[in-house]
Amino acid sequence: MFSLKELKRDFYCWKYNIAKPGSTAYYKQLCRNQMLCPEEIEDLSLNKTRKLLKYAYDHVPFYKKRFLSIGAVPEDFQTARDFEKFPILTRADLMENFNELLSDEYTMKDVRISTTGGSSGTPAKVCHPRSLPRAAMGWRLLDWWNISPADDMADVYRDVRNSLKSKIFQWVQAFPGRQLLLNATSFSENDMKVFLDNFCRMKPALLHGYVGAVDTLSGYMLEHEIKVPAPKAIWLTSSPITQVQQKRIEKAFNAPVYDQYGCCEIYWLAAECPKRTGLHMFQDIRRIEFTDDSGFSVPTGEYGQIVITDLENYAFPLIRYANGDSGRRLKKDCSCGCNLPLMDKVKGRVSETFLLPSGTRINGEFLTTLFDDTPDAVKQFQVHQQTDGSIVLKVIPNIKFQDLEQTLENVKNNLLNAINHEVPIAVEKVDSIPQKGGKLKFIISDYKK
Ligand SMILES: [Zn+2]
Repeated sequence: MFSLKELKRDFYCWKYNIAKPGSTAYYKQLCRNQMLCPEEIEDLSLNKTRKLLKYAYDHVPFYKKRFLSIGAVPEDFQTARDFEKFPILTRADLMENFNELLSDEYTMKDVRISTTGGSSGTPAKVCHPRSLPRAAMGWRLLDWWNISPADDMADVYRDVRNSLKSKIFQWVQAFPGRQLLLNATSFSENDMKVFLDNFCRMKPALLHGYVGAVDTLSGYMLEHEIKVPAPKAIWLTSSPITQVQQKRIEKAFNAPVYDQYGCCEIYWLAAECPKRTGLHMFQDIRRIEFTDDSGFSVPTGEYGQIVITDLENYAFPLIRYANGDSGRRLKKDCSCGCNLPLMDKVKGRVSETFLLPSGTRINGEFLTTLFDDTPDAVKQFQVHQQTDGSIVLKVIPNIKFQDLEQTLENVKNNLLNAINHEVPIAVEKVDSIPQKGGKLKFIISDYKK
């Protein structure tokens, strides 16, 4: 006998398959891939890499030139070690060679353009083929969290439904599931109340949204002791999350926040399963490497720059693309049954570091941990380096916290020690910290040496 949940799921996939043929078959293939043994997954990834290199050589002017410039042909890259010699693709390459990176078998009508935002420094543009059943990659991830794509979901996101047509489209897209939306761009106390009331009625399986906005909502719930039925998972996007925020959000919703890693240039890179032993890398569809500055792999467990090859994008191949993040592969297995290899949580973007007058860099990851020991002292904070190099630490204090002044003094001193007292630090207590489109930036640097 089929359960209602299974029926809804089957209907959802059937409906999706009409809009994008091949989605269900692709999803099933992905589910099989993750059960392969680690060696088979590596073989699959290498085979796809060789196939993509050959295609790029034959059909993409940029890569044809790249092969010529190093005096090589695709057949020279057979093993993982060979592949490490292939030149790294940088953000500057994307900017300068946009037209040449498009395959001669695709036109601009066949692709969707994705632009990366300003938070990571240099903007860049890439194309994704419309024909790829991308949603199926997300269905596999939802499976890990025991969620069906046909389940009800709550989103704290930019409201992009600006016409009746797009509202109907969104409804049809979610059906038979329902979508509950809180517009993250701006919301009032009443908007939060209405959203939370509906949340209680709908009992969504997933809460998905911008870190800053979900955090604000969580702070409101805790302050007013509002309880809602726990979703199965919370999935946050757009900014790095601090321990303080994660704890607050998990407490408010009584549900786990799972880490998911991706970037605008290449979606779906890695994600946590409920065991939370690390992030499973989607190595069957992306080849993720951790390398030194010369592009050679660093040993497992050591940090390196993240270099990604999108094994599915033939329209605009991204081969050995360094997205500016650093991370490391983990030397352990997960007991959840999925054999995709594990990586650690990603360290901040390289550009999210503070440069000090001496040339020393302070890692953004460290800056997000300033209040980890005293998570209840502040509701939110932001570290802003001014044009002269000095630092302003903005905090929205929790006035109920007893040792607030002492805590702020301690945090300031810790930060001063970390930066070796190179520049002055001012602590500013504020009522709010401006967000952009629901996204909170923790770390801003306007200092140019
Ligand atoms: Zn796992």
